[in-house]
Amino acid sequence: MFGSLKRAVKFILAICIYYSGLLALLSVLKRIRADKNNFTILIYHRILDENDSERDHIQAGIIVSRKIFEKQMAYLSKEYNLLSLKELAEILEKNQYPPSKSIVITFDDGWRDNYLCAYPVLKKHNVPATIFLATDFIDSDNMFWFAEIGMILAKRKIPPEKLWEILEKARKESKNISTPQSSDSHKPAADSIDSDKFIEGLKQFDHQIITRIIAELWKEGGVSSERTAVDRQTLSSDEVLEMSENGIDFGSHGCSHRILTGLDRDEVKRELIESKRILEEKTGKTISLFSYPNGDFNEEIKKLVREAGYDCAITTGGREIDKGALDLFALKRIGIHDGATAGPTGRYSEAIFACLLEKIL
Ligand SMILES: [Zn+2]
Repeated sequence: MFGSLKRAVKFILAICIYYSGLLALLSVLKRIRADKNNFTILIYHRILDENDSERDHIQAGIIVSRKIFEKQMAYLSKEYNLLSLKELAEILEKNQYPPSKSIVITFDDGWRDNYLCAYPVLKKHNVPATIFLATDFIDSDNMFWFAEIGMILAKRKIPPEKLWEILEKARKESKNISTPQSSDSHKPAADSIDSDKFIEGLKQFDHQIITRIIAELWKEGGVSSERTAVDRQTLSSDEVLEMSENGIDFGSHGCSHRILTGLDRDEVKRELIESKRILEEKTGKTISLFSYPNGDFNEEIKKLVREAGYDCAITTGGREIDKGALDLFALKRIGIHDGATAGPTGRYSEAIFACLLEKIL
């Protein structure tokens, strides 16, 4: 109830700000003072058709519908200065100011729908974009663990109490092997666990524990063969090469997509160096951009990214205004998904999208 009221108020404010011309005025005022922070980087994950059957078991926070994506790209190419992340990094490296109204489009993970659904739209509107790939998943039928869990939970109705029990067990197990990420701050209440909260809660654990939990979840209600019946979800080498030769840039998102802050130094180095090598081999181009899995990093990891030969790295959390010096190894991004740009009826609102781009509301 409170959520829908908040959504309605936000929508009304966005409509007033956008259609009164106030947003355009705020945008001009914001840009009078030359500022190196005068750009916005957007992060997309999956672009899916409205009737795609995958939609019922994917975290809503990573989907943009193809038609909405098309509207967004049409709007951006008309109203904004679209730069590639590589161009932005070069400008910032030279200590110069990005052009006024600069927007950068990025995609994380390397989903196959980036080729099938996003790429034709990007080409049509001549929009530069960078896709960050986790190299273990190229040409592979393996699923990202969070996608696999989403699918299991959609197929099997596992009660919240059982999910809570699984998290508690993992928390104890994690403490025994003292993984640095284990913390009680991720602890949801037993009766409020849904698929998204369960996946968020699991992110703190070591990959071995997550793999064990996936096996356990498949067994709940009987072993199934559905795991093998899934179409390839991530990009192939051929799709990467075709896009790379036609204006799409690629960057590394690690090899395994494991969160780097939970790995030891040698594992982090392997993720950084090996993924760079594989992508350079596949595209024939230098790979100089890195995206931290889950946006997580620390000072040591930033240093290792630089040492591995990257020029720029990106994270999440892009709605916070960067008051300090600009950090080329921690550029923030704004996450775009259907829910973030929807009005009270659930329909796409250009006014909300426009306010989001200007970091207003
Ligand atoms: Zn990712």
